[in-house]
Amino acid sequence: MDALGTDFAKIGSILSGSLTNSKVRIRGWVHRSRTSGGICFLVVRDSTGVVQCAIKKDAVGESSFISASQAYIESTILVEGVVKQDARAPGGYEISASSVKLVAQGEPFPIAKDQSVEFLLDTRHLWLRSQRLTNIMKARHKIIFYLREFFEKEGFWELAPPIITGAACEGGSTLFEISYFGEKAYLTQSSQLYAEVFTTALENVYVLAPSFRAEPSRTVRHLCEYWHLEPEMAFYDQKMNMRLQERMLEYVCQKMADSHPDLLLAIGRQPEKLKAVRAPFKRMTYEEAVEIAARSGANIKKGQDLGADEEALLTKDEEKPVFVTNFPKEIKAFYMREDPSNPGTVLNADVLAPEAHGEIIGGSERIWEYDELMRRLKENNLNPKDYEWYIDLRRYGPFPHSGFGLGIERLVKWMLNLDHIRDAIPFPRTINRVYP
Ligand code: ATP
Ligand code: MN
Repeated sequence: MDALGTDFAKIGSILSGSLTNSKVRIRGWVHRSRTSGGICFLVVRDSTGVVQCAIKKDAVGESSFISASQAYIESTILVEGVVKQDARAPGGYEISASSVKLVAQGEPFPIAKDQSVEFLLDTRHLWLRSQRLTNIMKARHKIIFYLREFFEKEGFWELAPPIITGAACEGGSTLFEISYFGEKAYLTQSSQLYAEVFTTALENVYVLAPSFRAEPSRTVRHLCEYWHLEPEMAFYDQKMNMRLQERMLEYVCQKMADSHPDLLLAIGRQPEKLKAVRAPFKRMTYEEAVEIAARSGANIKKGQDLGADEEALLTKDEEKPVFVTNFPKEIKAFYMREDPSNPGTVLNADVLAPEAHGEIIGGSERIWEYDELMRRLKENNLNPKDYEWYIDLRRYGPFPHSGFGLGIERLVKWMLNLDHIRDAIPFPRTINRVYP
């Protein structure tokens, strides 16, 4: 038996029942192992699942049996045998081996049960093989796939923004500075301003790219490097923007609940929770939100931004995300358009996810008129020189437009109900960790 080649069954198809009583070859890694007398039970994993293999000395011969029974957790192995239905085996199937080959024994795997969180983060490159992280990464892939599918159906174009930028997007406190041939440059915090450029040619666009924020705080929902989905739509006002957001969230939640219930259950998420996410979502203004939060005991005054505690209070009895609209313009970015019918506030909305997961989206109608943009840059003490190209969009063929930013890991954390955002990304970057 040779480890290369395509003549191998996937464990997932064995578990689906389609190979019962057939002879198969599988290829994977030892997940668990137990030997007693002349029989060795190896639970083998590949990318699609785990299956138990019963390896009998009489069937495979002495030397193969010895090497199989000496395999470590994570040793690489090939097994050939007949698939039997067996209620006692994990997943309900067992391979009765006729031949087994240890491809590489390797060294004893360093991760055993009950390791500390820090140890598992130090060995993240190994821990990513765990069933839990494997399932989460599969769900993350599907969630991103359905987001792209949604925008494809809506006729959007995906474009690539620059990651290295010359100026701050929204002010500098959380920027990572890099040296660019002796000049100062930055890792982007948001691709929004570039997404706005793309609307002038392609109208409805999105960017899916990493954003970088030197977040000095340790929270369960901030990363220093996260994936940011930033759609931007020509001729959309804020109402249309919000309707698009709720349809997008409904789409991805329904798709996950309908197409991947087993994956969700394996992660500990009830598919019904996502099934409940149907448009329209509740809308409340910032002013109402502050009153509700204060009444429920939050320590917040008008004019302050909503924090994790307030967001949790606002959504604790909700099944669906909630829009909070019309924030004071002083606490929001310079490019958000002021609400003509509610001056002092902007045409924006944050989307708060239920179950205390908090903000997952920030969006707004953008300022599209030259005079208003210049006024707001000034009010924010920003230098128009740094934004010349962005101002140009208000000089040549300006038009109303809107957009939003969705944190992929925030969405994954909520949809899968994870305790911490670090498990929503393979290699989390946080204030005290850039290894591995
Ligand atoms: P927060 O108040 O939660 O820090 P923010 O107001 O800084 O969020 P925006 O600048 O509006 O967020 O960014 C848009 C979206 O990007 C957010 O709604 C969130 O989903 C995501 N996001 C922002 N910062 C982070 C981060 N440090 N890690 C992961 N996702 C983030
Ligand atoms: Mn932030």
